[in-house]
Amino acid sequence: MDPGLRRGTEISDFLDSDLSQFDSIVVSPGIPLNRHPIASRARAAGVEIIGDIELFARARPELPPHKVVGITGTNGKSTTTALVHHILQAAGVPSLMGGNIGLPILAQDPLPEGGVYVLELSSYQIDLTQSLDCDVAVLLNVTPDHLDRYENFEAYVVSKRRLFQMQAERSVAIDLTCSPAKAGVQGAALATPAGAPGPRPSPGNNLGPALQGPHNLQNASAAIGVCEMLGLSSSEIESGLRTYPGLPHRMERVAEKEGLIFVNDSKATNPTATAPALAAFPAIRWILGGQAKTDNLDECAPHFGHVRKAYTIGEASEMFAKLLSPHMAVAECGTLDAAVKAAASDAQSGETVLLSPACASFDQFKDFEARGDAFRDMVRAL
Ligand code: ADP
Repeated sequence: MDPGLRRGTEISDFLDSDLSQFDSIVVSPGIPLNRHPIASRARAAGVEIIGDIELFARARPELPPHKVVGITGTNGKSTTTALVHHILQAAGVPSLMGGNIGLPILAQDPLPEGGVYVLELSSYQIDLTQSLDCDVAVLLNVTPDHLDRYENFEAYVVSKRRLFQMQAERSVAIDLTCSPAKAGVQGAALATPAGAPGPRPSPGNNLGPALQGPHNLQNASAAIGVCEMLGLSSSEIESGLRTYPGLPHRMERVAEKEGLIFVNDSKATNPTATAPALAAFPAIRWILGGQAKTDNLDECAPHFGHVRKAYTIGEASEMFAKLLSPHMAVAECGTLDAAVKAAASDAQSGETVLLSPACASFDQFKDFEARGDAFRDMVRAL
């Protein structure tokens, strides 16, 4: 028996079970409810389908007084979640991260009174949640992604926005997609659920090295807004912003060698996520490719001027080489190993060797973490 299962747990195939005997069916957010048979079976049996975040929401009345921050968006969720958690901890506020990052929230011990649960929420998790009233909810951005799980882009947007709809009147919504500048960088839109305008944070120049690039200005704006709403002082917030250590695989500076900087941005699995990484450095040896999610790199095009040469890998190697060669020098490398070696040997002092693939990793790696770890090892071995 799997040691992770508690004594008394019964395992059975839901297709053979009478689902109507259950109060709820709890599924992993990875289950595609738009096409998985559990959805129609549960509907027929009149049983709700929920996820662990909904279980957490229902347990809240029994927890010591606390606050919940919920963070969603297509890109930047983990960074913003980890940043808010870091600022809170640095200010001495007890806090936990959970949801789509780190340990599941129900696997962690509850916080003492005054604690803050900071939850990264994917749209799949929101779909499985009915009653989470976040004291502060954040929507960072929405661009096309996960379209295999939704009827269309609008349905994906509606799914993300449900985070706000679950909030009570007194709770705060920070909606950066309302900003006229879309990127939300200048004057992030902060509003209550009723739509009243709120303060407009601006991160200034005090961001630490792990928060470089325009995308991180957006993430920092959101984190500042959250922490202000939670009552932190500006000096507490600034100190957290300065000392944020960053997350692996997101603009992670893995080495500096002979005047070259090596950056692991393996988590950038779509062109929208890669674009700000290209914007962040002036002279780039760009390693990209893998399992493509798009047949273009239009989102990245405004920053092509920063790229000295592209090194393409994986299934998308040939397609991206064709797309990019009218705009820049390109080497079709096939593997990450070949790309790292070629980029490092071509690069000149002051340049950045950047792995920001704009693709999923599954054609050549187990996941984006394995891809980033491989990059780090290859750089160290140079
Ligand atoms: P998520 O958890 O939503 O996937 P992460 O914080 O892990 O987001 O960042 C994933 C990738 O997206 C990073 O590699 C980074 O290049 C890019 N990114 C981070 N924040 C943003 C943002 N606000 N807008 C666009 N891209 C971003």
